[in-house]
Parts: sequence; structure tokens; C-alpha cells
Amino acid sequence: MAKRLLFLFIPLLILTIAGAAVTIWIKFHTEGRSGKITGPVILAQIEEALEECIQAKDLALAEAQGILDGEKIQPQEAEEIEMPKESQEPETEQTSDREMEEVEDPDTNIAPKLRIVLDPGHGGPGTDDEQELGAIYRDTYEKYLTLEIAKAMEEELSKYGNVEVFLTRDSDRSLTLKERASYAKSVNGDLLVSLHLNASAEHNFYGSEVFVSAFDRFYARGAGVGGSILNQLTDYGFVSKGVKTRLGSKGADYYGIIRECKSLEIPALIVEHGYMDEDSDWSLMCTTEALRSLGQRDAAGLAAYFGLEKGNTLSELPELDEFIPSTTVLPDTTPPEEVWYKKEFQGNAQWLITLHGTDQESQVMYYDYSLNGGQTYSELKLWDEGETIQFTMMLTGEEDLIFRVYNNYELRTETD
Ligand SMILES: [Zn+2]
Repeated sequence: MAKRLLFLFIPLLILTIAGAAVTIWIKFHTEGRSGKITGPVILAQIEEALEECIQAKDLALAEAQGILDGEKIQPQEAEEIEMPKESQEPETEQTSDREMEEVEDPDTNIAPKLRIVLDPGHGGPGTDDEQELGAIYRDTYEKYLTLEIAKAMEEELSKYGNVEVFLTRDSDRSLTLKERASYAKSVNGDLLVSLHLNASAEHNFYGSEVFVSAFDRFYARGAGVGGSILNQLTDYGFVSKGVKTRLGSKGADYYGIIRECKSLEIPALIVEHGYMDEDSDWSLMCTTEALRSLGQRDAAGLAAYFGLEKGNTLSELPELDEFIPSTTVLPDTTPPEEVWYKKEFQGNAQWLITLHGTDQESQVMYYDYSLNGGQTYSELKLWDEGETIQFTMMLTGEEDLIFRVYNNYELRTETD
């Protein structure tokens, strides 16, 4: 019996000595780091070390991908960095106070995300407030149409990776331009796209146009996105009146939404899709389906510019090749120059007309003519490429013929 007990006691003794040895070893090897040692603390330390390792790996990965700039940024903030390298100017402040987002997929943690704010122009319950209603033609208000376009654009953009979309309004409500810009700031928007439809005093203009800030990176970003959207709208059927700037009397940007956004460091552009008061443009936007197509085109243009991919989140967005002007990009304030015409009889009442016009600051865009000395004019015709265009007209030769040549800033020069 005593022998049996001894046989049981010896292994127990060995186990106890071994346990004590392990404890002393652990104590020896870990005391330097943490002082008092307990099991859970060691576990916690291991977890902490692992965490540090994962974070360091994420950070290294992010840096390798050029998403983060030279400063040490906490890895948790990596997902908040939307803009690739080229737009690092004064946005650091904006970046640092961004709220953290819940990201389920760890792979998208470090993926750059653009925060695009869509601004459906006008809106509000007023029935006689032009700022709220926008353009009024065809028994409808611009404010309804812009909202339709914005919703379609939001829906289309949501199919792309690397983008988050916000709307300044998603119902018929009134907002000042300042409130729209403040909202864009509150969601840390990277870009605001204000959506509008056009109208002109003489109801004769047609085409899409984009207005952007006249200044430095605000011009560069607006003109880049705007040009890409105009490409889409011309594919759809509009003519392009181009990307333009406009200045107020004090030399700041003329349009309030662009000015307010710029003051909050947000590039903005106004997309004027087409003219509600012109038949050919209206035919391209007179149904809900057509308006949705416009929103989809806007989205495609924006996505193309930033290199976004449908259904795919990129770990890095392509670097943008933006030219940042060092001086104010001035609007054209003078009409076309060297405007003249000549007519040559071709027989059978046919006359060959040669019409000339140039514009150094912008581009010649349209022309129209009068057969009665300027009492009435034809519809606006599109100017082909170049300084000189030729076409034939049926004339008696007795008409009091006048041509007017327009640039894309709607300024015109009349022939003598
Ligand atoms: Zn408008």
C-alpha cells in the first residue's frame, strides 16, 4: 500500500516541480515588460501583440498602396481616406475629423472611398418663389426634374465600388445654397454635383453645359468631372456648350453653390443638362425614363473620371491627371471676332454662303440669320468645326441678309 502511494506521489512531485519551473521561467522572461504576471495578462499581451502586428501590416499595406500620405495615420482611419494622392492639398483637417464607419468586409478597410454629394437644384413648397421652383416650362417645374435625375444618379453610382453618395434633398423641400454646401461639409463630401435644367431668355439656346469654379484645384476637379459628364451627355444626344467659369462683380465665383462649397474646401460643379424651353433638348428629357437616363449618364461620367468600377471595390484609385491652373480661369466676356459672310450665286436660286467667325477665348458655337434686316431670325444653327463654314440657301438675292455668330458663352456678333 505504502509503495503504491509512493508510485502515485512521485509523478505528482515531478509535475509540481515542473510547474514551478515553468512559472519561474515565464516570470523571468516576461517581468521586464509587465511586472506582475498572471495568466490572463499574458494572454492579453499576446492578443495585443497580434493586434499590433495586424495593424502594422494593414498600415504597411496601405502605405505601399499609396493611399495614406507620409504621416503616420492610425490604421482605423485608413478607411476614411477617400482621395488618392493627387488631392492631398489642404484636406488633412477634413480627413482627421471624419467619423469612423462600420466596415464589415476587412478587405475594404483600406479601400479609398469618394463621398459624392448630389444636389438636386431648387425645391420647396413655394408656388411663386423662382429660386424654389427653378425653370418653369411645359407645365412642370425644374425642381421635380432635378430630383428625378439625382435619384437615378444616386442609384446608378451605388452600383460602383469606392463611392458613397449623399443627397442634399430627397424630397421637395427648400434649402438655401449655404445649407446645401454646409450639408456637403457635414458629411465630409469630396465633391458636390448640383443638378439643373436650363432655360434662356429668347428660348433659342440648346445643349448641355457645366459651370465650375474659376480657381486652382476647384477648377481642375470640377472641369475634369464636368468634361467627363459632358462626354456622356453628348453621347446621349445633347450638344456640348462646354465647361465654363463665371465671375461675379467682386471677382469671386458667380454661382452661389460653387462659391459656398469652395469656402468650405469642397470642389463643386453645376450640370445644366439641357434647355427646358427648347424643343430638341426637351425631347431628350421629357419623360421620367429620359430623366433617369440623364442621371445614369451623369453617374457614368463621374465614375469614368475617377476610374470607379461597377461591382468592384478597388484598393487604390487611379491617379488623376489634373492640371491645376495658377491663375484665375476667366470666362469669355467678348463676342466672336472677324465675323463676315459672302454669297455666291450657284444658279436655280441657290446661293453658296461662306460664313466666318473666330473666338480666341472660347469657341464659336451657333449662328442664326435674318432675311428681313433683323426683324426676325431663324432658329439657332450649330456651327461646325473651324473658322469658316459653308452652306447653300434658297434666296431671291433681294433679301436683307444678316448673320449672327455666337460663342459658347452666348455672346454674339452680327454681320454688317
Ligand atoms: Zn436650376
